[in-house]
Amino acid sequence: MTAQNTYTQAPWSLEDLFQGFDDPQYEAAFDVIRKGAEKFQGYREQLVPDISEDLFISIITEYELFYRLMSRLQGFAQLAFAADTQDQGAQAQVARVDQFQAEVSNLTLFFNLWWKALDDDNAARLLQASGDFRYWLVSMRNFKDYTLTEPEEKIINIKDVTGFNALNMLYDSITNRYTFKIEVDGEVKELTRGEVTALVRESDPDLRARAYQTLFEVYAGDAPILGQIYQAIARDWRNENLDLRGFKQPISVRNLVNDLPDPVIETLLEVTRQNAKHFQRFFRLKAKRIGMDVLRRYDIYAPVEKSDKRYAFNQAAEIVLESFHEFDPKFADLAKQIFDASHIDSEVRKGKMSGAFCATITPDLSPWVLLNYQGKPDDVATMAHELGHGIHALMAKDHTALTQHACLPLAETASTFGEMMLIDKLLAQESDQAVRRDLLFRQMDDAFATILRQNYFSMFEQTAHEMIAQGAQVKDLAEAYMDNLKSEFGDSVDIADEFRWEWVMIPHFYGVPFYVYAYAFGQLLVLSLYKQYQAEGAAFKPRYMDILAAGGSVAPVELLGRAGIDVTRAEFWQGGFDVIGEMVTALEALE
Ligand SMILES: [Zn+2]
Repeated sequence: MTAQNTYTQAPWSLEDLFQGFDDPQYEAAFDVIRKGAEKFQGYREQLVPDISEDLFISIITEYELFYRLMSRLQGFAQLAFAADTQDQGAQAQVARVDQFQAEVSNLTLFFNLWWKALDDDNAARLLQASGDFRYWLVSMRNFKDYTLTEPEEKIINIKDVTGFNALNMLYDSITNRYTFKIEVDGEVKELTRGEVTALVRESDPDLRARAYQTLFEVYAGDAPILGQIYQAIARDWRNENLDLRGFKQPISVRNLVNDLPDPVIETLLEVTRQNAKHFQRFFRLKAKRIGMDVLRRYDIYAPVEKSDKRYAFNQAAEIVLESFHEFDPKFADLAKQIFDASHIDSEVRKGKMSGAFCATITPDLSPWVLLNYQGKPDDVATMAHELGHGIHALMAKDHTALTQHACLPLAETASTFGEMMLIDKLLAQESDQAVRRDLLFRQMDDAFATILRQNYFSMFEQTAHEMIAQGAQVKDLAEAYMDNLKSEFGDSVDIADEFRWEWVMIPHFYGVPFYVYAYAFGQLLVLSLYKQYQAEGAAFKPRYMDILAAGGSVAPVELLGRAGIDVTRAEFWQGGFDVIGEMVTALEALE
């Protein structure tokens, strides 16, 4: 590739959305949506079982149009806020748009309820005519049997504001105030959670231990309160979803959101249990590599090398684009499109949101990517990851705004795949053995954090929800968590007693119960796809491209099935773990 482009770090441009909060178009958008929602209300009477296909399609087409406009408003406020979290104007606009969004969804709730209550024959007739809206409508109707009456649904919505949501806000308010005192380089510092967590990847073993100890000291101190919040959330989840709506198990709610049958997730977790041994083998190897008899839980993210390899931004962009290009030129072109649109904000600035993300606002706009690029190999991998999300969205841009986004279990496909292509590229052009080792060990660190850790979290959530229903106390949950850790790590890692409080500090357990297995699902899926790619080369590409291009317009099991992947079989998941096993074997051979 003759890539003579120069990529520089600059703030992104949001001009494709609005020119600013004082742009008259911005205010006008609120009016258009409000009027659209009021007009939509007028369709209430026309929603009858024998509604004509044409009218039905024109109603949802209109719905999609103001959904797009809402996404623009929301996207603009959130991206402006991400670029400068200290900007009070942006803060206020995010809150304003959120409130507005909640009001508008209440105005359109009746459509959702009508559609779910519609008889099967008429639903089938309308689905036949619904084109690309089809899967959006199908996934809504999946909840048919678990939906209550409109007044009941409204009561739940209202009570959630002061119940589930309020508990979560309380949890966030309590924990966001925490600071963590720790001695670093002979100086006592007061750090945020993000800052103290970063220290567990430092090479000084005492510093790593101190980082965890200060974290747990603070959280364990409030465990009676945080644990009580968790118990209330779990009870609320059961009361609503099992007792009122009729779900069989607490996890089934999330499975239905993800459109994955319960047995698929049971199989995934069972196969995970059988394969914890690969990670345990990795931890024994890592202990040896860093000169310890047995790894402590404090050390699992310890670096094996003091690598100070850095990549200039332009160099990183070139490498990432080249690695995409080697897979398929189209991938590089799509990623370049995001650069060319000035939709990447990569510099580190005071007040800018930390971390990285890719935001797809509507199908007709290139996605926006936020990075905090500092030149470490991890930063290059993150660039590949987020651009992978961008490619996924652009591949699926011919869908409606309601069907473009891949569903959760497939959302990380292109991003993780992009990261793997990049690591292969970096390894291919790296002759320094220390840098290669560093890359490979980090890849396994990440695989652990995404696969084994999240699936064991998921097993704990199921245990905890059952225990809480039986009246378990907070200390009993901590005991159960410790048992969970012991089966996860076996005797490969020494687990200090304070780790029994780790579960109280996992925000997903509170905010989005049973969410975490999706990370493992996505990563294992990509491992197996990547293995197919290595085995088949070009022959593999069309199948993979089809998965991406489908976006969120097909059910995940069906979509993967078309590519010859059967997620209902244990063998499929075992294939992903076999790749992990091979990665560990390759690492052992590096010595
Ligand atoms: Zn991602």
